[in-house]
Amino acid sequence: MTGLESLGVASMEFGFSPEQEAIRESVAKLCSDFPATYWRDVDERREYPEAFVGALTDAGWLSVLIPEEFGGGGGTITDGALILETINRSGCASVAAHAQMYTMGTVLRHGTDDQKRRYLPEIAAGKLRMQAFGVTEPDAGSDTTRISTFARRDGDEYIVNGGKIFTSRFQHSDLLLLLVRTTRYEDVTRKSDGISVLIVDLREAGDSITVRPIQTMVNHETNQLFFDNLRVPVENLVGEEGKGFRYILSGLNAERILVSSENLGDGYWFIDRATAYASERVVFGRPIGANQGVQFPLAQAYAQLEAASLMRWKAASLFDRGEQPGFEANAAKLLASQATWAAANAAMDTFGGFGMSVEYDIERKFREARLPVVAPVNNNLVLAYIGHGTLGMPKSY
Ligand SMILES: Cc1cc2nc3c(=O)[nH]c(=O)nc-3n(C[C@H](O)[C@H](O)[C@H](O)COP(=O)(O)OP(=O)(O)OC[C@H]3O[C@@H](n4cnc5c(N)ncnc54)[C@H](O)[C@@H]3O)c2cc1C
Repeated sequence: MTGLESLGVASMEFGFSPEQEAIRESVAKLCSDFPATYWRDVDERREYPEAFVGALTDAGWLSVLIPEEFGGGGGTITDGALILETINRSGCASVAAHAQMYTMGTVLRHGTDDQKRRYLPEIAAGKLRMQAFGVTEPDAGSDTTRISTFARRDGDEYIVNGGKIFTSRFQHSDLLLLLVRTTRYEDVTRKSDGISVLIVDLREAGDSITVRPIQTMVNHETNQLFFDNLRVPVENLVGEEGKGFRYILSGLNAERILVSSENLGDGYWFIDRATAYASERVVFGRPIGANQGVQFPLAQAYAQLEAASLMRWKAASLFDRGEQPGFEANAAKLLASQATWAAANAAMDTFGGFGMSVEYDIERKFREARLPVVAPVNNNLVLAYIGHGTLGMPKSY
């Protein structure tokens, strides 16, 4: 038995293949066409970065996880993680487009052959967008089993009534992956039963969905939705009726790995920018980075980012081997959001007053770096998952 095996570790590799290095280079090259002025502009106008998302789509980066038989890139979650991290490390923002990478995974794993043939090649070709994912409801919050949006079966259709909140990218998507109850909470034995997943074709929804945009502290298209007798064909049910909660859960590890990767990209961006500035900016006759009060928070945040990144790669590696790395994916999300927030604050301090100035981009990225602490899952809920799911302590809910 080798030393590593005695620790329960089969092997460890720290490096990228030539193909992965090529992915990084190509994505970074595409991102160089979207400089800080572009992001400042869309941020100021609160506009969706359509040109950027279009370029990512055309280059095939958003369909990299779709298998080749459906026209996608046939890549791994590690490839997806590399793409999103590179986008954000380049100063761009993948949050406008990242959902497609994990929403299509639910269709791929649990959808019917017909659904896969109908949607995946079109998504891969960039003709259809599946960017919207409707889970959160105002009265349920983090307790997803308490959703009350209800889909009643009526012949070959479901009739959906209720509403969602914080449904992002809805206005820039053709398809919405929607979590509904098909049996009410009061009528199920296990609270996670009776929940189903529907693919809603927004091009056919007419006026049965009312949209109320929600303005937030970041340039992020997110909305409150109201469903009024929305008709969805039964053929758009993903998997079995009533089993949707577990389909969503099975996709969450991929989501956590991808989101922590773009988050880490932001963290490295802060460190890149702040270390360069700290080395150039001279006050009291020397570069401010020579002062340990400036240098150490950056060094500390960088070490935290590297640790979070290792956890993320471990999660990705296990996922690509077909395992469900619940602890690793959740821990990666927790650690990446904390490390990036530490990097954001260290960068803000390093830039002094200029950190607040829009033209230095730190304030925009600072606002953006706060979101992953809250969404797609709040860090408290991640800690609760680790507390009871991994460590076996009693549940708070
Ligand atoms: C910009 C943005 C975009 C979003 N996009 C989407 C999207 O596309 N689709 C979607 O479905 N959702 C989306 N969300 C929603 C997001 O996933 C939720 O906001 C998040 O999951 C937290 O839910 P909540 O806001 O209802 O908080 P709540 O559940 O009300 O929680 C409030 C606070 O209480 C804490 N808390 C609650 N219960 C416990 C407990 N048992 N133990 C300890 N602490 C607890 C939470 O951690 C949190 O700090 C988005 C949110 C934002 C802000």
